[in-house]
Amino acid sequence: MFKSIKQLFTLILIALVIAVIIIVLPVFEWNSPEINFVNQSEYIGLKPYEIEIKDKGRGLNSLKVYIGDDSNELLLIDKKYENNINNDRVEIDIKKNSPLKEGKVKLKIIAQDNSRIKFFRGNKMTVEKELVLDLTPPKLNELSTVQYLQHGGSGFLVYKSSKDLEKSGVNIGDYFFPGYNGYFKDPSIYMVFFAYPYDLDTNEELSLYAVDKAGNERTLPVFYHPINARYKDSTININEMFIKRKMLPLLDDDVSQSEEILKEIFLRVNKEMRTQNNNKINEITTNSTDKILWKDRFLQLSNSKVEANFADKRSYMVNDKIIDEQYHLGYDLSVTKRYPVESANNGIVVFTGDIGIYGNTVIVDHGMGVMTLYSHLSSISVKDGDEIKKGEIVGKTGLTGLAVGDHLHFGVYVHGVPVRPLEWWDQKWIREKVLNRIEQIKSEYGE
Ligand SMILES: [Zn+2]
Repeated sequence: MFKSIKQLFTLILIALVIAVIIIVLPVFEWNSPEINFVNQSEYIGLKPYEIEIKDKGRGLNSLKVYIGDDSNELLLIDKKYENNINNDRVEIDIKKNSPLKEGKVKLKIIAQDNSRIKFFRGNKMTVEKELVLDLTPPKLNELSTVQYLQHGGSGFLVYKSSKDLEKSGVNIGDYFFPGYNGYFKDPSIYMVFFAYPYDLDTNEELSLYAVDKAGNERTLPVFYHPINARYKDSTININEMFIKRKMLPLLDDDVSQSEEILKEIFLRVNKEMRTQNNNKINEITTNSTDKILWKDRFLQLSNSKVEANFADKRSYMVNDKIIDEQYHLGYDLSVTKRYPVESANNGIVVFTGDIGIYGNTVIVDHGMGVMTLYSHLSSISVKDGDEIKKGEIVGKTGLTGLAVGDHLHFGVYVHGVPVRPLEWWDQKWIREKVLNRIEQIKSEYGE
């Protein structure tokens, strides 16, 4: 009897010990907090530097962030956590009036968790990182002026900034056009080709923008006179025959041909397919080489007659009702059937192939964002990657895609945005807006 009571006590004791271990052990977990840098930049500046802290076990207890140079150490963040949270994201914000000297600094981050291990001190994680402190926004000076800018047209600017920029260029509306250095010997001189997109309002604010590797930004408004362009509005009556002959073949499906369905087919091709095709062209024409490959004016297809202009607005009617409106983003040029198409300038072929309503298409990169497009071709005689000279034949005109008669659809793009080709065809414009300015800066800076 006594023996069994003793046994019982032992059993209860063992059960108690196990229960205590199960309840208490987790508070002694040994998972240290994790510290991650959200961006891996080696620079820290006026833009807050983000870090992420995680703890797998009992949650975070405290966070301290120090930053220091040779002579100072500042406690920037001293945070105590209340509710056992497992994740936190903090911004290390260095104010401009900090006593730290620009240059090398050391960031020290100490995170502690709520574990009771190590005599209740918990797990501690310390991370140190060497950074370059830069609190000075990049300088930005216009070396050339814009003066007149035509709606739907192109612009050019040369500017001076810092040499180690993360990004710089021109902002207009929601559009950004990147600038390039490397053309001038001085690496702090950049040039940028940009567009005044045809779909923006006139009088949009234009500015130069630069951001350095520490995230310090500078914006400089650029003065210019906008010139309104007159675009043609036209109405096109769509007949069944056009939809059946030109649009149905562009779609994969074979559908019955009631009037309602034909209207739907029209919209699928003219609206949806056009949007997809324009997006694809935008994607191709956005990645340009960082050198200027072109020389002097761009060529208009020889002996050609202009059939349609840039940014003509077309309203499409079926039975006296407008069912769609679209802009024509290039020039239609016609000569004779299967006329050889010359490259408008020196460049590299970056695309050859079929693009829906544009049909067989060649796209040539002329550098620093400027590209030309040749569409509705009956045949293509170049391939991707070919380096071609001004006047070299890229293919023959035709009526592939959504073309009624044999013609060339010619487009000029600046960083993915379609622009008026007329300026690029004009030697006077090229000389006054681009070449003279480059020459002037070269002589001013003794290049
Ligand atoms: Zn066209």
